[in-house]
Parts: sequence; C-alpha cells; structure tokens
Amino acid sequence: MKIALIAHDKKKDEIIELSKKYKDVLAEHELYATGTTGTLIMGETGLSIHRMKSGPLGGDQQIGAMLADGELDLIIFLRDPLTAQPHEPDVSALLRLGDVQKIPLATNANSATIMLEALKNKVYFA
Ligand code: PGA
Repeated sequence: MKIALIAHDKKKDEIIELSKKYKDVLAEHELYATGTTGTLIMGETGLSIHRMKSGPLGGDQQIGAMLADGELDLIIFLRDPLTAQPHEPDVSALLRLGDVQKIPLATNANSATIMLEALKNKVYFA
C-alpha cells in the first residue's frame, strides 16, 4: 500500500512514537511524507520515505495531488486542532480529497493506532 505520514509540529513526537512502534509494519509499505515529518521519521527509524515539500510550503498540496490521482491508500495526518496553521486551506483541501476518494485517514494518534493494528493483522481496506 502507499501510505502518507504527516504531522503538525506539536504532533511530531506522537508520529515518531507511532513510527517506531509500527516500524516493521510500515516497512512493508511504500511511504510518503511531508518534508519535516519525513526527515524526522527517517532519522528516528531508518525507514525509507519519499519526502514531499514541507507542509506549509506545498507538501500538503503535493499529497493532495496524489490523492486526486488515486495514488494513496492510507493517510496518517496527525493534525493540531489547537493551533492556527498558516496553510489551513491546504490542510482542509487534503482532508476533503481524502473523503472524496474514501481513503482511510487518521487525524489523531488513537485512530492511527487502530489503522496500524489493522495493517499489522493484514486487515486491508477496500
Ligand atoms: P512538515 O509539514 O512535515 O513539513 O512539518 C506538515 C504540515 O504542517 O502539514
């Protein structure tokens, strides 16, 4: 599966923790991430990740373009609901396109854990 990993700054620790815990599961898939998120996860886990631009510089839109082309199967996007983001329109667009394509999309760590457990147990989504 093609999986995108994104986390806003205050959620970076959580996505790193998840990536470490589920490293072996993630390693079986093709991974994409926004710039900073990808760099941090690669540094902490050694996972191989295709990195887009940083989110505020267009990375969310690049992930959104992949979504529009039907090129992603699952998204983990740990968003910060308590901090205004300069690229809020890009965030909204990405979430909207995920729903257009009916892509499993986790926006918090507990939802992401359920998805990663499903992947671990080879429960795939239609
Ligand atoms: P970043 O982007 O991984 O480059 O920090 C994430 C985002 O803010 O969308």
